Amino acid sequence: MITELSLPVANINSKQRDFFQTGKTKDVAFRIAQLKTLKQAIQENEQAIIQALKADLNKPEFEAYATEIFVIKEIDYAIKNIKSWTKPQKAAVPLEFLQYSARIYPEPLGIILIIGAWNYPFQLIISPLIGAIAAGNCAILKPSELAPHTSSLLAEIFSKYFDPAYIVLVEGGVETSQKLLVEKYDYIFFTGGTNVGKIVMEAAAKHLTPVTLELGGKSPCIVDTEINLEHTVKRITWGKFINAGQTCIAPDYILVNNKIKTNLVDGLKKTINEFYGDNPGSSPDYARIISQKHFDRLVNFLKNGEILVGGDTNSSERYIAPTVIDNVALDDPIMQEEIFGPILPIIEYRDITEAIAFINSRPKPLALYLFTQNKNLQTRVLQETSSGGVCINDTVMQCGVSSLPFGGVGDSGIGSYHGKASFDTFSHSKSVLHNSFLLDLKWRYAPYKDKLSFLKRLIG
Ligand code: NAD
Repeated sequence: MITELSLPVANINSKQRDFFQTGKTKDVAFRIAQLKTLKQAIQENEQAIIQALKADLNKPEFEAYATEIFVIKEIDYAIKNIKSWTKPQKAAVPLEFLQYSARIYPEPLGIILIIGAWNYPFQLIISPLIGAIAAGNCAILKPSELAPHTSSLLAEIFSKYFDPAYIVLVEGGVETSQKLLVEKYDYIFFTGGTNVGKIVMEAAAKHLTPVTLELGGKSPCIVDTEINLEHTVKRITWGKFINAGQTCIAPDYILVNNKIKTNLVDGLKKTINEFYGDNPGSSPDYARIISQKHFDRLVNFLKNGEILVGGDTNSSERYIAPTVIDNVALDDPIMQEEIFGPILPIIEYRDITEAIAFINSRPKPLALYLFTQNKNLQTRVLQETSSGGVCINDTVMQCGVSSLPFGGVGDSGIGSYHGKASFDTFSHSKSVLHNSFLLDLKWRYAPYKDKLSFLKRLIG
C-alpha cells in the first residue's frame, strides 16, 4: 500500500507508463476482467465500506448502498456496453471522397489522475475509475484526506486487488495532491470545490493535460403552485438532507412561488419529522458533518435569517439538525457560498421571471430543480436558464441514470461522466481516413493550370 507518498510520484508514474506501453490495457477482454475484479473487490468488502463511511460521516447503511455501493450498477453498465463503445465507428464521407472510407477509433489516453472529494468518498473515486478502466487506461487515485477511514480502506483494497503499475491509490492531503499535480498525466479527473478546481487546471495547463472538473455551486430548486405538494416535499427533503446535505447536487436553496410558500414550509416541517423523528440527532438515518471546520462554517450560516425548522447543533458530535430558514438576505453568506450542509433557505418569488433572472445573475449551477406540472413553465425554465443538469419534479435522481452525462457548466465544472460519457472522457477519438489504390484523380496535383475552375465548381 502506498501511503503519504512513500514512493516519489515520478516513480509511480514511470511504472504506470511502462505498464501502459505493454499494450495490455488495450485488450477489451483485459478491461472486462479488471471491471469484474473491481466489482468483486467492492462486493467482498461491502461491510468494511459501510463501516468506513459510518466512521467518516455517520452515513446510514441505506445511504451507503443507495449512493455509494450503487456504483456497482455503473460497472455492470460498462461491461454490458464496452464492446459497442470500443468498436470503431463508421463516419460518413462526402461524395467527392468516393473511394475513401472513414472511421473513428476510440483509443486509451494513458495514465489518468483521479482526485476525489470527501462527501461521497467511495463513489467519487470508483465511478470515474470505471470509465478509465473501460477506456483502457492506467490510473492513479487520490481520495480525500477528510474521509480518512474510507481513504485507508480504499488503499488496502486497491493494493490487494490491483497491480500498482496498473491502478494505484495514493493517500494524503493537499500536499500530496500538489506533489501529484507536478507530474504529467494524460488526463486529470478532479472532483471538489471551484477554487481548488482552478489550482488543478493551472497545474494541468503546464503539461497541456486535459481535465474534467466536477465542481459544486448553489443548485436552485424552483417550486411552482402546480404541484403535488406531498410528493414535492418528500423529494426535496430527501435530496436536501441525505448525507446531512453534503451532496454536490443537493438543492442548495428554494425559490418558491409566494402563493404556496406557507404550504411548502408546513409540508417540509411535517416530512422532516416523519423522516427523522422529533430529535433527528438520535435518528439512525441521519449523517454528521465531516469536520469541525465545516461544522463551524455551517453554524455561522445560522446567524442570519429566521429558523423555521431545526436549527439545533451539537459541536462534539458535529451534528446540525435538518434546518429550514426564512428571510435570509441575498447578500448574507448563506446565499453567497455553496451551503453543502443541512440548511435550506427559502426565498419567495411572485413571478417566475424574477426567479429566472435571479438564477441567471449567479454562476451557472451544477443542478437545477423545478417542481411544476405546467409544461409551458417547464419549457421556459429549460430554455432560459443554464445548468449542468436539470431534474423536473424530483431531486438528485438524475445522477443515477447512466445514460445521462453528469457534469457542470461554467463555475460548476468542465466535462462530464457516467456511462458512455465516462468512456468518451477517458478516450481519444482517433479519426482515420482510408484511401484505396483503385483510382488516383489528378485534380489536386500541380501543375494547377486549368484546374481552378473545377475546384471552384466542387466548392460550389
Ligand atoms: P476540495 O476541493 O477541498 O478537495 C478535493 C480534493 O482536492 C481533495 O482530495 C483534496 O485533498 C484536494 N485538494 C484540496 N486543496 C488542494 C490544493 N490546494 N491543491 C491541490 N489539491 C487540493 O473539495 P472538498 O471539500 O473535498 O469537496 C467539496 C466540494 O466538492 C464542494 O464544492 C462540492 O460541491 C464539490 N463536489 C462536486 C461533485 C461533483 O460531482 N460535481 C461531487 C462531490 C463534491
